Amino acid sequence: MAEKLVRVCDICGRPAEQSVTFKVGPRSRAQDLCGTHLQELVSHSHTAKRGRRPALKPSGAAPAARGSAHRGPTKRNPKPSSTAKRPRKRITDPAVLEKRRAALEKARRVRAQSRAAARQAV
Ligand SMILES: [Zn+2]
Repeated sequence: MAEKLVRVCDICGRPAEQSVTFKVGPRSRAQDLCGTHLQELVSHSHTAKRGRRPALKPSGAAPAARGSAHRGPTKRNPKPSSTAKRPRKRITDPAVLEKRRAALEKARRVRAQSRAAARQAV
């Protein structure tokens, strides 16, 4: 019963061999490629590495924000940690949870208000 989805190469239109996904800035894109164009792509690419390459970092400049998602006001960590990624601790303190919820609620309301204001301005 399963229908076979026929994908075609996004470049030449021949039957695609594989679908590749890549990122352009913050956006993810996908492309179906035939064997030829898949080979071409692979030959013009390199293995993606985790983290950023130190050579790309402009010297002296402050490190850019990690990723595109901001986590609100950034507090400077008094203890610089060498390991960048640390699992976030689960919030169990009810007082903190309550504050969190209130902040989220407030943010939601502010967003709705500014959206409404923007609509009226048009
Ligand atoms: Zn092709």
